[in-house]
Amino acid sequence: MAYVISDECISCGACEAECGVGAISAGDSKYVINADTCVDCGNCANVCPVGAPKQA
Ligand code: SF4
Ligand code: SF4
Repeated sequence: MAYVISDECISCGACEAECGVGAISAGDSKYVINADTCVDCGNCANVCPVGAPKQA
């Protein structure tokens, strides 16, 4: 299981700092989550202003 960032992402960068395992990085048009690294903690979803990270 992993979280996935939807197209609602506005690339604010808030989630990257909240991810304790460094699974989030800036992509071309939005931020992206490395599914192999994500431990499903939900921190990114809690800080995102637009609710872009969703549980897959
Ligand atoms: Fe990182 Fe947790 Fe979000 Fe996964 S759910 S990307 S581990 S903050
Ligand atoms: Fe995108 Fe939300 Fe992360 Fe900001 S906090 S970069 S809007 S997913």
